[in-house]
Amino acid sequence: MNCPVCNHDAAFAYLQVRDYTVSNKLFELVKCQSCGFLYTNNPPDKNQIGVYYQSDAYISHTDSKKGIFNNVYQLVRNFSIRQKLNLVKKYSQRSNGNILDYGCGTGSFLHFMKLNGWHVTGIEPDASAQKKASELISQRVFNPDHLKSLESNHFDVVTLWHVLEHVHDLQSTVADLKRILKKNSMLIIAVPNHFSWDAKHYKEHWAAYDVPRHLYHFNPDSMHQLLLRHGFSRKALKPMWFDAFYVSLLSEKYRHGKMRVISALVTGFISNMKAFIKPGTCSSQIFIYQSSDH
Ligand SMILES: [Zn+2]
Repeated sequence: MNCPVCNHDAAFAYLQVRDYTVSNKLFELVKCQSCGFLYTNNPPDKNQIGVYYQSDAYISHTDSKKGIFNNVYQLVRNFSIRQKLNLVKKYSQRSNGNILDYGCGTGSFLHFMKLNGWHVTGIEPDASAQKKASELISQRVFNPDHLKSLESNHFDVVTLWHVLEHVHDLQSTVADLKRILKKNSMLIIAVPNHFSWDAKHYKEHWAAYDVPRHLYHFNPDSMHQLLLRHGFSRKALKPMWFDAFYVSLLSEKYRHGKMRVISALVTGFISNMKAFIKPGTCSSQIFIYQSSDH
């Protein structure tokens, strides 16, 4: 397949990674020979990938509160929702406005934004998550196809929290996000970062490769290249400290067959220390870009 960012047709083999969550199948990561973008080679297409999301372990789509691991996850999520609101307010320089959360999951972020006076719009492909989100925010949540029908020049902020790496139509989606954003408004994207120390430490067991659900494996350079092509300029790059621990816990499980909590905490801590010294190398990063020229 051609490079999803620059469309070049040649790529180097990079790493073989197993799908530990659902299928146990091997997938190949390749690196574009022209722009260096890292992507999953020939992943299942849009109509076939659904089965790879059929797993109880895929907790990002559920609100089940079983076990201490999920309890911590929920606690951190509630804390991070507040952080996200603060980030949106700071960079949009607004206390309310129109916000789209693309890939809103079960809608907890949008719900919080709505409570804080924002006009919210949600898009979510997973039918059961979409239904839950819709109930939570008491308004309709749309399928991804609806992006094309959204009004141009309408949104003050668009957010994608660990979503862009799952999106098949990368270029057309980013182009549409650009179209619906007002001039000088904000695009906020969080994705895992394979430049992180935990990625280097766990290699093929690094949980955030999450093949074949993750089609792209971003780093600050490749994200910049992609967004620059679509007329965005960089405002800020923020670390997501908790992700180093969360990803390390899962990676320990993939590597050793069980969750070695102490090892994971140590790895997460080292990774965060390295990222503190060298910005742009956190396990997951938040990219804050501005829609510049229209
Ligand atoms: Zn490329």
